[in-house]
Amino acid sequence: MMKRKRSNRIPLSPILKRVKLYFDLLKRSTDAYLYVEDIPSKIAMLSPNLVQDFDLPNEVMENLHERWAQLIHPEERVAYETSFRESVEKENVFDWSDEYRVKTRKGEYIWVRARGRVGMDEQGKPQLFVGVMTRMARRNQADEVTGLLNKYQFERGVKAALANWRATQEGGAILLFGLDNFKIVNETNNRSFGDQALKHVARAVEKILPEGMTLYKLDGDEYATIYPGAGKQEIAELFASLQSTLSHPHTIDGRPFFCTASAGTAFYPAAGKDYLVLHKHAEAAMDFAKQEGKNRNCLFTKEQYNRWVRSISIRDAMFSSVENGCEGFSLFYQPQVDARTQKLIGAEALLRWKNPKGRMVAPMEFIPVLEETKLIILVGKWIFEEAVKTCKKWRKIQPNFRMSINLSYEQVRDLSFQDFVLTCLEAYHMPPDSVTLELTESKIVADWSFVNKQFDQFRQSGVHIAMDDFGTGYSSLSSLKNLSCDIVKIDREFVKEILANEFDRELVKYTVALCHSIGICCCIEGVEDDDVFRLLRDTCMADSIQGYLFGHPESEENFEKEFFHSGGVMPELPPEERAKW
Ligand code: C2E
Ligand code: CA
Ligand code: CA
Repeated sequence: MMKRKRSNRIPLSPILKRVKLYFDLLKRSTDAYLYVEDIPSKIAMLSPNLVQDFDLPNEVMENLHERWAQLIHPEERVAYETSFRESVEKENVFDWSDEYRVKTRKGEYIWVRARGRVGMDEQGKPQLFVGVMTRMARRNQADEVTGLLNKYQFERGVKAALANWRATQEGGAILLFGLDNFKIVNETNNRSFGDQALKHVARAVEKILPEGMTLYKLDGDEYATIYPGAGKQEIAELFASLQSTLSHPHTIDGRPFFCTASAGTAFYPAAGKDYLVLHKHAEAAMDFAKQEGKNRNCLFTKEQYNRWVRSISIRDAMFSSVENGCEGFSLFYQPQVDARTQKLIGAEALLRWKNPKGRMVAPMEFIPVLEETKLIILVGKWIFEEAVKTCKKWRKIQPNFRMSINLSYEQVRDLSFQDFVLTCLEAYHMPPDSVTLELTESKIVADWSFVNKQFDQFRQSGVHIAMDDFGTGYSSLSSLKNLSCDIVKIDREFVKEILANEFDRELVKYTVALCHSIGICCCIEGVEDDDVFRLLRDTCMADSIQGYLFGHPESEENFEKEFFHSGGVMPELPPEERAKW
């Protein structure tokens, strides 16, 4: 039997009287539990369902929050008390939302999702607290850590949005976002810090969502929201405010925490008329945002998706290639010649990869995947050793032969690489100056002093360093002053039109002169034409040349046939060495 409630004994405060009319209208129009509290007097007005379901004394009562806290499950009580107190006390926190178990009249716990807002008086003092609580049918509606609705609820929400689109033709968007480098946050602190960070993000982002939108928590560090009626403009604005919210550091356990987010957006119905497809496309867009450098939002497009699918399949295939001892990888070699004598002085080792179906994949396509997955650290060691072996073999024919090997920035950052290089050279009894390491200039602008330190150590041990693709970075000329290298490789960009373009000609000439003045040699890349070659040699004073004019990248075998067996500009193979091949 339900207890009968006594009549109101506590009178409404003046402010509650003023809002009573609205409150009465509201409580009849929703199943949610409602209450309004006059903060200074602690008198609250409650909806009848709240009184009944939780056996509260009356529709007007004092000290609601103290009483309510006693009904909350002990596991959630402290968090409730702290977050509620903070929301009222800290005058800059106006919103509050939480999820917890609360004991009903029948003595069983149910999950409720509670939201509240503090209203201020003219002096800016907290005056009213308006609260709404909804009952959650099953616990698995809420995410354990953040209290946000979980992925199943997101699915339900997306399906409802799609049904709405079918009925009204109003489309919209779903936006997924993940926190960048959250794993590091977790690893460098602890699990509970990570959980709190996820909660903080949830609370902060909820505040910036447009009216009526819900934030959901998916797996791991991912969140999602549904934005009915949104176009590109609305999504761009939403992401911008997400970025600015996250850029403020939060304090957790006295430690500052801030992070960026990578988001993916899929518009419906264009990107999918069904939940699974739409979700998959938004996920792909988010993955793409991460691949493109994080802290950005990518909008799903078909072309991008196809590229993404391709990079995923490359990624998978590369992992198995590496697991199988770098199966499918090989090195091609492109000759480098002395500009004056046109004699072979060395070669650049260029990585090639055949996918499991036996098709050659372009380096521009697979090298970024190797870098992003950090597989380049493993494959780079394989490349180095293979190139050194080949160099050793070719040095028997041409003793001063020099091998150029490309390095990715990830390899420079890997502190074990330097030891590996020196140990490998020693193991093959190769002098360090038989190899040149090439690093692309444009990648290192961020971290000059670190890179220079590494380079100095390489150079002290005798290994040569080349600055690759010179001229394509942001700081080219100023980097000449800072960098610690032996060779500068001027990019093909400046050579392509050098015959017609006087500016390029002057620039190359000036750069070579500048390099020479500080003892750096210049290699010019991408030379395809005899006239260009002459110009570079006679006017620009280049030291060495690499380009199709003297040879395309070739397999080891073909390189040998072309440059060591055929005579030509290259030295003849000694008879005893030729016999070995
Ligand atoms: P890169 O280091 O600038 O290598 C030179 C690229 O220019 C090579 O492309 C080469 O085939 C091409 N090339 C050479 N001469 C000419 C020419 O006369 N005309 C034209 N049009 N192109 C010419 P490739 O082999 O496709 O390699 C592309 C890029 O992939 C390389 O650019 C390098 O950044 C990267 N890469 C290749 N192998 C490796 C490697 O072993 N490790 C790393 N980290 N990156 C590599
Ligand atoms: Ca190179
Ligand atoms: Ca280059």
